[in-house]
Amino acid sequence: MNAIYFLTAAATFLLWSGCGKSPVKSVETQPIQIAELPKPNLVESTPLVEAPAAKVLEPSSRVIVLGYHRFVNNVRRPDTEITPQVFESQLNALKENGISVISLKDFMAWKRGEKSLPPVCALITIDDGYKSAYTVAWPILKKFEYPFTLFVYTTYVKGGAKSGGESITWEQLAEMRDAGVEIQSHTVSHRDLRGKRGNNAANPAYEKWLWAELHDSKALIEERLGVKVIALAVPYGGCNEHIKETSAKAGYELLFTVDGQKIGAETPSNAVGRYMIESNKPKVFADAIVFDSGGSGAGPAAVAVKALRTEPEDGAILSVPPMTLRADLGSFGVIDPGSVTMRMSGTGPLPAVYNPQTKTIAYLPVKPLKADKYAVIVSATSQGRKVETRWTFVVEQGHSPISVLTVQKR
Ligand SMILES: [Zn+2]
Repeated sequence: MNAIYFLTAAATFLLWSGCGKSPVKSVETQPIQIAELPKPNLVESTPLVEAPAAKVLEPSSRVIVLGYHRFVNNVRRPDTEITPQVFESQLNALKENGISVISLKDFMAWKRGEKSLPPVCALITIDDGYKSAYTVAWPILKKFEYPFTLFVYTTYVKGGAKSGGESITWEQLAEMRDAGVEIQSHTVSHRDLRGKRGNNAANPAYEKWLWAELHDSKALIEERLGVKVIALAVPYGGCNEHIKETSAKAGYELLFTVDGQKIGAETPSNAVGRYMIESNKPKVFADAIVFDSGGSGAGPAAVAVKALRTEPEDGAILSVPPMTLRADLGSFGVIDPGSVTMRMSGTGPLPAVYNPQTKTIAYLPVKPLKADKYAVIVSATSQGRKVETRWTFVVEQGHSPISVLTVQKR
């Protein structure tokens, strides 16, 4: 029975999905030894976080992280540019909606459990190192007295190999640092840290490059500015478990990606999703500033609902990797079909397919999942509220994909 369900499931999934679905790269990664790489030579400078405050911690606070790039009067690249007027209107909206703008230092202290935050907060970040952060955004942020964080990639800072007329200078960064702006890393070269296809997974050249991207950018910012770098904005949000592990070895405590979400105390510090603001996608900001409320304005970001059935089952320990990830969302109520998403730990959003007829969402991994523990999260909007289900499973070492059907029958 299970085998039949399984085969049918796989077949229908193939029908839904067509043949052109792109594989999710990070499910193929392998654990890699980096013992021979240069060790981080970290200079202990002023700690970013103040001594723990003796406060009752408020675990239900929610934080949004907003990501910006460039501030221009005439937008030609709407994916990365925004006008000063729109930027200012967004800062006003934060104020009008009672959202407290916090510093990275406070965010970090909160994540460490050392400090409370107001119920709803925003962290403002600006990527890449365009001089408009200094010339345009900073004066506006000053008016609001809002703290913010810059993520620069070091070859783009003036004088660097990729710098140009729009680059910020080290002198400008130093001036901003002195005024309390936090300067953190966005790697050395801004390339996708997952590397080119076939150029990752246990490739020593890749490992060396990855380490340099993470370590050298941090080291240069720390050396030039005399600051402590503990946060990384991952270029394009392209991340996986190996990048997270290597980042931790390089000394990063916070990794920011690009999957906008409400951040809670429970959100992993190495997967902090940001709402990336684009000029032609006003909905991103509009969604960001809506906090699902349980009355206080700071309730959980989504209502947890148990799926009627999942594949693999919640808590399953599998001797072979699953061929399908699937959830029956019959318990979600009326679902907006376009709102259904599936994401997996270590990978992020998956190109899963939702079938409104059967109310099931399914994803067929292109390559077998490596041995690891996985969490799958499916969320959707149901009658105006966000509902979410999550389940976990383990793929054990030493699997053999050939024996899939035998195991499924069990
Ligand atoms: Zn960037």
